[in-house]
Amino acid sequence: MKANPVIAIHGGAGTPDRTLLTPEREVLYLQALQEALRIGWDVLQRGGSADDAVVEAVKSLEDCPLFNAGRGSVFNHEGIHEMDACFASGKGRLTGAVAGVRNVRHPIELARLVALRTPHVLLAGTGAQKFAEESGVELMPEEWFYDEYRYRQWQEARSQQEIWLDHGEKKWGTVGAVARDRFGHLAAATSTGGMTNKKYGRVGDTPIFGAGTFADDALCAISCTGHGEFFIRYCVAHEVAAQIRWAGRSLAQAAWNAIHGPLCLDGGEGGLIAVGPSGDPVLTFNCAGMFRAWITENGQMHAAIF
Ligand code: ASP
Repeated sequence: MKANPVIAIHGGAGTPDRTLLTPEREVLYLQALQEALRIGWDVLQRGGSADDAVVEAVKSLEDCPLFNAGRGSVFNHEGIHEMDACFASGKGRLTGAVAGVRNVRHPIELARLVALRTPHVLLAGTGAQKFAEESGVELMPEEWFYDEYRYRQWQEARSQQEIWLDHGEKKWGTVGAVARDRFGHLAAATSTGGMTNKKYGRVGDTPIFGAGTFADDALCAISCTGHGEFFIRYCVAHEVAAQIRWAGRSLAQAAWNAIHGPLCLDGGEGGLIAVGPSGDPVLTFNCAGMFRAWITENGQMHAAIF
């Protein structure tokens, strides 16, 4: 089936501390988003697959210390970085995810390998780490993930005995991408360092298919960002798909309902990006802003924060 390629990416949603998000930093964020978007778009323009486009876009964001994923991941309670990621291809719902992995430069690449090389969907903790070592993905030393700002953020959270969303009053971060290629295939990818000072092997919504990430060629591809515990409880990504399938909603209506309905009433802050079998990408959030960029069916590029 022929289709017009489209792509959307996000770098997290939340309510920013305006004193931290100076105009200079805003420019840096927008530039990083536009660069990642272009990388994904180039893949689609060359006739590449949505699967490759979302992975390449997310890899670019994982290498950028501004975002809470890969290199810029937040510190957990033990002062280390444990990352979650999910890759979802709309073709046959081929999905792979990892939770709590360390030292992996591109967790999204590892997630995709779970889909391609194992009969499983989600690998966690020590097993996922073993798979990372065996699979040959690039591993980086702890210093690669060190960021002065994140370190201070963690010290503060620890001293107040709190667990922080990277968004909150502080800063946002989780990254994601969704795309449709010229053959009409859809894909989604999401990657995160989770929450600052998180404990006990905490896993968020990102690597959970149907919560933070989802793709089905017939319905939609979704990547979420926000307070993971809420997104898991409300099965947000799948909620969008279910409303399209069973209630006949448009992608835009379904996405709006999933983000602004019961999730929001219950205090679940965040947003999502989505693409469907036709039409432009849909981006929606229930907080002050979401780092985002997208390209529409007519090839127009957009980037915004608020
Ligand atoms: N959803 C992510 C998590 O709860 C965090 C985020 O989107 O910033 O792990």
